[in-house]
Amino acid sequence: MDEFSGQRERLLATLRSQGITDDRVLAALASVPRERFVPVAIRAKAYENVALPIGQGQTISQPLIVGMMSQLLRLSGNEKVLEIGTGSGYQTAILARLCRKVVSVERIAELSQRAAIHLAELGCENVELHTGDGTLGWKAGAPYDAIIVTAGAPDVPSPLYNQLKIGGRLVIPVGGEDSQELQVIMKRESGPDITDVCDCRFVKLIGNAGWNPDDSN
Ligand code: SAH
Repeated sequence: MDEFSGQRERLLATLRSQGITDDRVLAALASVPRERFVPVAIRAKAYENVALPIGQGQTISQPLIVGMMSQLLRLSGNEKVLEIGTGSGYQTAILARLCRKVVSVERIAELSQRAAIHLAELGCENVELHTGDGTLGWKAGAPYDAIIVTAGAPDVPSPLYNQLKIGGRLVIPVGGEDSQELQVIMKRESGPDITDVCDCRFVKLIGNAGWNPDDSN
């Protein structure tokens, strides 16, 4: 028990009622203290079901979205997963409990460094963090069983699709700057099989195969 236990339980009940049904995902959400990944000044809001600012114009994703994206990856425990957009490291910590290895790329070094501290505090040892342009993927670890992108892309970056194993899933928000469609792209021998999941709103994926850095705000 800790001071956030009650709020965490209530949030989990909400997420269950909103469609998060994968027991492993629910267990991961129950065990990762979200308050550690938000700035101290807004820690009291850590268990509200909303995105929150984490500095550098970026946000920690809404818990429902984290649960939904994690569930859509259909992880069973033995996968190597590539995450683009480490941000606070919260989604990274959830993934670390759901798969064998997480490789996570963030373009803002300061965010990556802070995430590294929080992940180490939680004892997440199966995580590899890198700073760079994640629209290019992370070739050294390819191919991946699953890929998750936590920033909105104008199109699916082809390096990410290329670094996915056949049978693997890519979960990514695709669309305009103000709203996107959350998509699951399954890589088949015959080509991509795309499923639209829901509307969503993410910060921009900025990079070579994303939005132009000059447009960044
Ligand atoms: N999953 C994170 C979400 C952070 S917001 C969390 O819950 O905290 C999205 C993150 O994507 C931001 O930190 C942003 O800096 C990062 N990002 C944007 N474009 C990127 C790129 N090309 N490569 C890697 N990270 C990128």
